[in-house]
Amino acid sequence: MCAAVNNVYCVGRNYKLHAEELGNEVPAEPLIFLKPSHSAVSLDKAVIELPKNAGMIHYEGELVLRIARDYTPGMTVEELVDVMALGLDFTLRDVQDDLKKKGLPWTAAKGFKNAAPLTPYIAFPDKEELEASDFTVLKNGTEVQRGNVKNMIFPLQKIIDFIAARYGLGKNDIIFTGTPAGVGPVVPGDSFELYWGDKLMGTCLIG
Ligand code: ZN
Repeated sequence: MCAAVNNVYCVGRNYKLHAEELGNEVPAEPLIFLKPSHSAVSLDKAVIELPKNAGMIHYEGELVLRIARDYTPGMTVEELVDVMALGLDFTLRDVQDDLKKKGLPWTAAKGFKNAAPLTPYIAFPDKEELEASDFTVLKNGTEVQRGNVKNMIFPLQKIIDFIAARYGLGKNDIIFTGTPAGVGPVVPGDSFELYWGDKLMGTCLIG
């Protein structure tokens, strides 16, 4: 298990190229969904079991913020966030496509056990350092995703203010901030390495 995790907020469609690769419109305001805190598990030399016989599973590599204190209006990202991690927002893509068609909630597609593995945390960098580093996802040794906060549709401050105003934001909430282009399928035996710049943040193997 991870360190204490309260609410797990996720941002959908926060990178233009990713919204387009799934044929989704670029949203006018942040698209927020939740995962149960039970889906947050360690992505640190871990073997991760995912649902079997549930159709195609996709990885979505994302920057994850941890909220250090209860939000009050006017707080900046730097004041609120003490550490960050990288995470995989695992998604049952066939199930999600079906739920979307039927207008049903995404919980079954996004909220299953182990659906939100997280690397160990590192200190939250200042804005300059944050924008200077890409995060990358390697699947079976090959880079499949590369993201940078500069390419987000909604910047971190906007996401935080939006979530706090609508749903509340407090200590030990975490936020998956959306995935860049390059999502793709996962099968048992696949391995993932997540990097922040040159730093290996975590690895996992799909069981
Ligand atoms: Zn995602």
